[in-house]
Amino acid sequence: MKKLLEEDLISDFSNIGISHGDTILVRASLGAVGRMEKKAETFINALLKTIGTDGTLISLAFTSGSFFRKPKKDDAFHLGKRSYAGALPNAMLNRDDSFRSKHPMCSFVAIGKNAEEIISGHNESSSSYEPVRKVLDLDGKCILVGCVGSSPGFTTTHLAEYDLGHSTKLPVFPWLYSTYYIDDSGKHKIFRRDDLGLCSNSFNKFYSIYVQNEILKANYIGNAYSVLVPAQKAYELENIELSKNKKFNVCKSKLCFMCNGGRWDRAYLLPLFVCRRLMKKYLYS
Ligand SMILES: [Zn+2]
Repeated sequence: MKKLLEEDLISDFSNIGISHGDTILVRASLGAVGRMEKKAETFINALLKTIGTDGTLISLAFTSGSFFRKPKKDDAFHLGKRSYAGALPNAMLNRDDSFRSKHPMCSFVAIGKNAEEIISGHNESSSSYEPVRKVLDLDGKCILVGCVGSSPGFTTTHLAEYDLGHSTKLPVFPWLYSTYYIDDSGKHKIFRRDDLGLCSNSFNKFYSIYVQNEILKANYIGNAYSVLVPAQKAYELENIELSKNKKFNVCKSKLCFMCNGGRWDRAYLLPLFVCRRLMKKYLYS
């Protein structure tokens, strides 16, 4: 298979609808893109050249916390902590020209013209997905590269959940998710979530809505099937759908905690969920 070059990716990014000056929120599975020298660096450089010096690139640099258990101090969030969100955000974090927000579990990383503005003020006191609102304000776009099916949907949906009160009112005890973080004076402090993104396994249900409203563009970035939407329009459609039906994003998995007891409107399923998990652990393992 032919090695992909930076100019191949620049051409693909342009073909899917990314232009000079764009604000782009990207999630990507780089393994699906294809063979490249210095894969993450080539991918980032191609995106930055496509949007130019007036554009801004953003990704999710989320970090883990503890659920139920007491968090560990040596796993505290700090600006150098590695993200679990894959090679792309970690490569962005390693660059000297990147900026990272200080939210202890849902930090964002950004590079480019409006990077500092987008991450500013996002910290332990903010709602989890607040930088996405700035992407909307800048008329930004969201792209999924190579994870359209495996990690479906756009982060705008979590912002819509928050604005509708779903991520604060529906999760059962969101504060059970906690972590330490190191504050500006170097002290360890405990952070507990008070808003929680709901299950995203079924965010692919929104794809048909984007298509019906003619906002979804699809193409290949290298070998990776990819989709792009304008952030503001996607957010509006998600907000309308979730306000009509707050269970729209409930997934079908019987082993998903959030959809089988982790939210108050599905809490009646919790005893069944616990039985299923115990049976899986002791009878089928
Ligand atoms: Zn689920």
